[in-house]
Amino acid sequence: MNESKIEEKEEIGKTKFTKEVEEFIPSPHVSTDIYEIEATSGDLSLLSKYHYKFKEEYRATHVIRPGNTEELSKLMQKCDEYSLPMTLRAAGTSCYSASTPTNGGVIIDLRRMNKVHNIDKANMIVKCDAGISWQKLMEELLEYGLAPKCYPTSYRASCVGGFVATSGKVGVGVLKNGIMTDVLRSVVFVKPDGSTETITRESQGDLSLDNIIGSFGIFGAVAEVELEVTTLKTSLEMVGYSFHTFKMATEFFRTLKNSDASKPLFLSLSDKEFEKYAHWTYPSRGFFVYAVYSDDPSVTSQSVLFAKETASKLDGLSVEEWYLKEKWRDMADTELNLGRWCQNLIFQEYYVSDNRVEDFYNFYIEKAGTKYRKAFYMMSGPIGGNRVKLFGLSDIKDSREFFGIKAVFNDITINNYENGDSLYTLGVVNTFYFLKFHPEKAAALLTMKNKLDPKDLVNSYRLVKAKMRTWRVGLLFWIAKRLYKAA
Ligand SMILES: Cc1cc2nc3c(=O)[nH]c(=O)nc-3n(C[C@H](O)[C@H](O)[C@H](O)COP(=O)(O)OP(=O)(O)OC[C@H]3O[C@@H](n4cnc5c(N)ncnc54)[C@H](O)[C@@H]3O)c2cc1C
Repeated sequence: MNESKIEEKEEIGKTKFTKEVEEFIPSPHVSTDIYEIEATSGDLSLLSKYHYKFKEEYRATHVIRPGNTEELSKLMQKCDEYSLPMTLRAAGTSCYSASTPTNGGVIIDLRRMNKVHNIDKANMIVKCDAGISWQKLMEELLEYGLAPKCYPTSYRASCVGGFVATSGKVGVGVLKNGIMTDVLRSVVFVKPDGSTETITRESQGDLSLDNIIGSFGIFGAVAEVELEVTTLKTSLEMVGYSFHTFKMATEFFRTLKNSDASKPLFLSLSDKEFEKYAHWTYPSRGFFVYAVYSDDPSVTSQSVLFAKETASKLDGLSVEEWYLKEKWRDMADTELNLGRWCQNLIFQEYYVSDNRVEDFYNFYIEKAGTKYRKAFYMMSGPIGGNRVKLFGLSDIKDSREFFGIKAVFNDITINNYENGDSLYTLGVVNTFYFLKFHPEKAAALLTMKNKLDPKDLVNSYRLVKAKMRTWRVGLLFWIAKRLYKAA
């Protein structure tokens, strides 16, 4: 960045804009502190460090925390007035640089918007701010004997608005109670120019709820949400069986998923390596299926019996109860725990249809080989799809290994798209895949983006335009594969 640009940024950073924002947002929440900017400029994955080659230039000048919809709306209006780029950020757990700045400007940290406005027990609906964490929402609903219908396993930190913006398709409750599209009744939405609109299922305006779900914030900010909730069930039981083969484990997983009786509240399939890295100890066989049931006691015990009978037909070996309970208690940490085992954790998340899970796994094993430490973790989505997360535990000193694993993930991604599936999380770093494989969808989103955000100020470089070129990435991985093979 040239010097005059830096000075211009500093000028805006320290004076006029800041003072004007402080007129409606308390000054402790209008930060130009370099440490706060640093802390909110990356995510858990360290990916941004690799993918933001010119990150310095994209670094924000402010982190601002609006406390309610009015403050958020005024802030976005002010940024629009100054043509300052905005990055919407909740807990930052979705990774892939989804909530990381790409053009400087202002990081809008939404987590101060964390109030519950109304719990309507008769109609089973909650109204709350989008920056509330799932954990806090769950605690407040608990007082009324209620619970969210679906939420991500990252619920301790991640926020309601983050799950809406990333699609809300996979996690706890999705199989039993529906996905975000099913449970979201309405949102209060702040558009890039700061104007506010309430969007319901019946709305006929530019934006529908479907446009907003999974939009990665490119059209503006979800300020408040109205969600359907469910009653907190009185019984919670878990089952876990390990299997010798992936085929048997998948068959068990699929049978529990498709059973007409009570659906699991949570269902996963992992390999032994994932269990080992996530929990220190692990089941004795190669593959592990874990299901959590929550319902009335009689329904739960029937479900557990059904799982037991099915497992015995498939030669499943039950896993001890303490392990199952620990797994549930530590659910929010399991994926993060893999980071303890290496200096540089690499991962990619795929959305894989139910009928392609085995093909996906076989292709993965063929491509990954035995060269690096790896792990496989699949979480059930609704009927039809699953989120598969592949991990590579790489050593930061060995860049050949790092790029070699990335190249393997790239091959798997292409194969997955070519077979009609996709990536689960796009954010900034995966957007180029979306542009390559879903150009029509991307073009439709771009038309809407240009209409709502002609200056491209909000959450740029997600879904409609990429920082990376497919051919350059292809070339990089082509070289990386050869170097890794030679290593
Ligand atoms: C341990 C672990 C477990 C996970 N489990 C799951 C899971 O079960 N299911 C799943 O789907 N994902 C899961 N994830 C991924 C991630 O946690 C979820 O996508 C989560 O919903 C993101 O919420 P967040 O508050 O961290 O959002 P962020 O990561 O801060 O934001 C995500 C995206 O949404 C945008 N955004 C955030 N808030 C708003 C808003 N109010 N309005 C408009 N745009 C907004 C951001 O700009 C960004 O593009 C997991 C991640 C980890 C680390």
